[in-house]
Amino acid sequence: MDFKFSEEQNKFRQEVRDFLEEELRQGTFQPSCDAWITGFSPEFTKKVAAKGWIGLTWPKEYGGQGRNYVDRLILTEEMLRYGAPAACHWFADRQIGGAILHYGTEEQKKELLPKIIKGEAYVGLGMSEPEAGSDLASLQTRAVEDGDDYVIDGQKVWTSGAHYMNYVYLVARTDPEAPKHRGISEFIVETNLPGITIRPLTDITGGQHFNEVFFDGVRVPQKYLIGEKNKGFYQILNQLDYERSGMERLMANYPLFEAIIQFTKETKQNGKPLSQDPLIRSKLAQLKIEFEVGRLQIYRVAVVMDEGRAPNWESALSKVYCTAFEQHLASTAIAILGLYGQLSPESKWVPIRGLAHDSYLSSKGYSLQAGTSEILKNILAMRKLELPSQ
Ligand SMILES: Cc1cc2nc3c(=O)[nH]c(=O)nc-3n(C[C@H](O)[C@H](O)[C@H](O)COP(=O)(O)OP(=O)(O)OC[C@H]3O[C@@H](n4cnc5c(N)ncnc54)[C@H](O)[C@@H]3O)c2cc1C
Repeated sequence: MDFKFSEEQNKFRQEVRDFLEEELRQGTFQPSCDAWITGFSPEFTKKVAAKGWIGLTWPKEYGGQGRNYVDRLILTEEMLRYGAPAACHWFADRQIGGAILHYGTEEQKKELLPKIIKGEAYVGLGMSEPEAGSDLASLQTRAVEDGDDYVIDGQKVWTSGAHYMNYVYLVARTDPEAPKHRGISEFIVETNLPGITIRPLTDITGGQHFNEVFFDGVRVPQKYLIGEKNKGFYQILNQLDYERSGMERLMANYPLFEAIIQFTKETKQNGKPLSQDPLIRSKLAQLKIEFEVGRLQIYRVAVVMDEGRAPNWESALSKVYCTAFEQHLASTAIAILGLYGQLSPESKWVPIRGLAHDSYLSSKGYSLQAGTSEILKNILAMRKLELPSQ
């Protein structure tokens, strides 16, 4: 086992840091928590695209860089460290491009991958429905063949960023007679088609990041069916492993981690910096232990991907562990900041730009999104511990 990065990888990390430092200097963004999913900046995405950093692992023949998953992890780790607004391209780069590469036709690859790589196609994830979350196979949205099109009717919910995205990766039922897992297909759908209504929902922080999306007789050309008809559920399972396994499960709130450490160094209580308080030192050290363990889990997932295997139980394990760390980080920061930590970013008395407030509230959802911790533990029980299914 080799824990070292190559010289080339170290150089790449430095190049990404230099880029982000420069963007910070130019004022393109301010570091924020959750920026990978809530920071929508087409301008920033275009700049990342110009560096060749979208589709880093995809084959060169489709415009990618043909690099490995550890390289991609270095890139995403730095984006998260800086709290950079990468939400426009994150989903497409993380899982949709990969799904198109794996299941798409040559025509789909040639049409869609270059648009993603150039930072022009932003793709949301249209899976969950009001009555289909953990049990995704219960979804009710219908896609019915009609001439050269599928006609889509139904509703999605929680669709992150749909109000910014120009595409949605849609999962719909194509055979209502088949057993529920066997009648589902995947589509890529432009969000400006007639019959689509996108309605933002207000989240726990007061922000609007996810949406309800309604489909009312939406005609989608058949050429946008991805993969095999009625095999969509099995295709999705593979995609979810990629969705769960990235550094965003550990570092969504990294700007808070740095800020709270800095705060304890700069803030005095009874004449002494908080950083000299043994209890606070112990709390911060405990967070560091959890952070480093989580980071190793995620690098292990990238190594599994580079071996050509889909990370399955590995991504379930790392997501459960890392999202618990994120929640622990937020509650520790709130405890250290005392009552001021509960103030929202708008308050003039708020410490560290309100990062603790937002992160405490947002991190509640981390153990739900992309598969709840209970579901992931079930996956671990079955696929790693080989316990019988329930
Ligand atoms: C911030 C955020 C962003 C999201 N973004 C998207 C998005 O972009 N696109 C998208 O499609 N979806 C998105 N989701 C939805 C997410 O995938 C679902 O919330 C998740 O799959 C859980 O589904 P549910 O909310 O319907 O909860 P339910 O499935 O109803 O679960 C409710 C509770 O019951 C538990 N439970 C359910 N079944 C079992 C079981 N078999 N065994 C043990 N416990 C069980 C769950 O763990 C949970 O605690 C997002 C969610 C959040 C919070």
